Amino acid sequence: MSREQLKTQVMEEIDRRLPEFKDLLRDVVRIPTDNPPGDTTACVTFLAQYLKERGLPADVYEPRPTLQSLVSYKKGRREGRNLVLNGHLDQFPAGAPEEWSFDPYSGECRDGKILGRGVGDMKAGTVASLLCLVLIHELDIPFDGQLTATLVADEESGGTWGAQWLLENVPMTRGDANLNSEPTDMDQVLIGHKGKYWLNVETRHGGGLAAIPVEDDAIARAMQVAEAVKKKLQGWKLETPRDVADAVARAKLRVEGQDRTQDVSWVVDSTTVNVGVIQGGVQPNTISTHCHMEVDIRTPVGVTTPDVQAKVEEVLAEIDLPREEIELEWVVCLESAYSAPNEDIVELVAKNARQITGQQIEINVSSGSTDARFWWLRGIPAAIYGTGMENIAVPDEHVLEPQFGQMLKVHAATCIDYLCAS
Ligand SMILES: [Zn+2]
Repeated sequence: MSREQLKTQVMEEIDRRLPEFKDLLRDVVRIPTDNPPGDTTACVTFLAQYLKERGLPADVYEPRPTLQSLVSYKKGRREGRNLVLNGHLDQFPAGAPEEWSFDPYSGECRDGKILGRGVGDMKAGTVASLLCLVLIHELDIPFDGQLTATLVADEESGGTWGAQWLLENVPMTRGDANLNSEPTDMDQVLIGHKGKYWLNVETRHGGGLAAIPVEDDAIARAMQVAEAVKKKLQGWKLETPRDVADAVARAKLRVEGQDRTQDVSWVVDSTTVNVGVIQGGVQPNTISTHCHMEVDIRTPVGVTTPDVQAKVEEVLAEIDLPREEIELEWVVCLESAYSAPNEDIVELVAKNARQITGQQIEINVSSGSTDARFWWLRGIPAAIYGTGMENIAVPDEHVLEPQFGQMLKVHAATCIDYLCAS
């Protein structure tokens, strides 16, 4: 059978079994995986059982208590490329039930929508990743290499004990390419993220009594640092790498086109700074001896970790305060990362999305963050494609039923294109 015939066979199977697949998604929505606390054990137990009943491996990893990830795979008939599918199982907390017009864990369907917390971000995608493996296994599709599915914990809290841990400890999860099923609105393939840094700053002072004030107490020093960092880093950028410049430009246009009161498109290719925490002093009648500050810095593609760290040092050297009085701790250092738009996995998912949805498909970078970052940072090509982004992380989260089916088809067709000889 040709590759096109194999794809037709899988598309027909998806059409035929869509009600069954939808029921599986509803069952998964009924298992809460809110993060915090991020407990995925019940969900992993359920899906591991589902895989085992179908004769597929279900390897469970738990690097931290209750943060379980599930890995399954199928080997092809000959050696070849390993395509790794990835989705997360944890989700934003549902919040106050009175803000919802339905039970967030009911898995209910209404008016062509599948409802529930986490269904959009991203249980629909994660279930689709799993179903690609199940379909290729059950239909006994002949392919070369390996298809690996990684269903992970801890994405909403940074991915350290989910995708990042798997990539470091389970070699087969690295693969030759990664296909991530996070929501992308059906009309774009995402190929890059901005960098994310958390910087802790400590300032100190010898102290004294408020009756004899000083100008540079610990709080004043921290504020001096905060002001300088914000003034010099906010909006800062370096040249965008040429191979991704078009994708960045399109992402800016897309943000510009959104109906907002304020144009925030500049954030796509510029650095942003937020001083989110500042804590100092003990009481009003003493000079503050210590101040602690936490800063979030997001850098555009083209700015590396050494670039941003050097820029912060440059800013600190310019202020009127001895450098040794300022203590820095880089708590999170996730460099911006991307795949070139002409990578095989990117072109294949875009082509299939175009064919299956009939829409124009854009290849963009994202200012958000997903686990795809961990593949990009290892130099492994990764592409993100999934359902609508409008109703995620808010009360009354839902996905449109037709989008679930179409997204599953795009992912399954891409698996066949990537792994099957023509
Ligand atoms: Zn997500």
